[in-house]
Amino acid sequence: MSCALPSTALCAEPLKPNVFIAATGGTIAGTQANVEQHGYTAGQLGVQSLIAAVPQLNDIATVTGEQIMNIPSQDMNDAAWLKLARRLEELERLPGMDGIVVTHGTDTMEETSFFVALTVDTPKPIVFTGAMRPATAISADGPMNLYNAVAVAGSVAARSCGVIVAFNDQIHSARYVYKTNTTRSDAFQSVDRGPIGTVDTGHVDIFNACAGSALLKPKVSIDNIHELPKVEIIYAYAGMGRDLIDAVAQSGAKGLVVAGVGDGNITSEALAGLRDARARGMVVVRSTRVASGFTIRNAEVNDDAEGFVASLEFKPSKARILLQVALLKTSSPSEIQQYFNSW
Ligand code: ASP
Repeated sequence: MSCALPSTALCAEPLKPNVFIAATGGTIAGTQANVEQHGYTAGQLGVQSLIAAVPQLNDIATVTGEQIMNIPSQDMNDAAWLKLARRLEELERLPGMDGIVVTHGTDTMEETSFFVALTVDTPKPIVFTGAMRPATAISADGPMNLYNAVAVAGSVAARSCGVIVAFNDQIHSARYVYKTNTTRSDAFQSVDRGPIGTVDTGHVDIFNACAGSALLKPKVSIDNIHELPKVEIIYAYAGMGRDLIDAVAQSGAKGLVVAGVGDGNITSEALAGLRDARARGMVVVRSTRVASGFTIRNAEVNDDAEGFVASLEFKPSKARILLQVALLKTSSPSEIQQYFNSW
């Protein structure tokens, strides 16, 4: 029986939210030859198998699924991001669509979810989830992660929170979250901010007030964009030379993110390389290899004088994407700094 009343009204069968599952692969769709071995292959099962594995989804939402791609997320790239973001834009406009879940590998979930946050403008929840253990594992984490992600995508509380990662009973903003463990099921943390909420067996609690805040962030349209500017990341270390920086400067890259030591620092020799790269027109963003904390503008490096951008709280993986997206609009370091400031 269907009911036209809102779910809070007295109704024999409360109206269920419509949630779309856009599947991209990853370990949540992975299978093992032997459940007692660590090895497995990601991106093997289709979206209908993921849905069929959790019949309880029907209790909390009307679920539809689509296989957008089926890859391990280490193979995600600019073309895949553009394809996914365009499809999400179409899906969120579908009449009656309440929210979308994206199943995704965990390796680059912090990147894809942030790209979607930067480019897809919608108040409807777009919720990324995945798994650390393949679908065939003893105590696979994918089914509960999927169930919780559907609950978050269908919830009114998650509206206007922007793009979300729901994983291991926590709800994170795509803006804050990083993969911080290689194998454990509690792999995701919002290192500088903490989670924005929890989801326990479908019960959603968003305790970090986010109402509307994500909608105020400047989005960059990908209409008519068919490729993203090339941006590289270089990891700094004691005794670093400038060879890799020079190679990037000569490669045609439009931007370089440095995973600097400490507060985005780098050896004097490497700094000279960055200066020359900047003189060739490349945009240089100083970030950090440190797991938590901000990279502050004009701290030990004079960004004003050098024409560099400080990544603030964005670690290299997200700083690279923000730079790629900002470069679609401008190559001015001071304008690009504004993207980092306002995101
Ligand atoms: N390598 C896998 C992937 O990112 C890992 C995972 O999904 O947990 O697709």
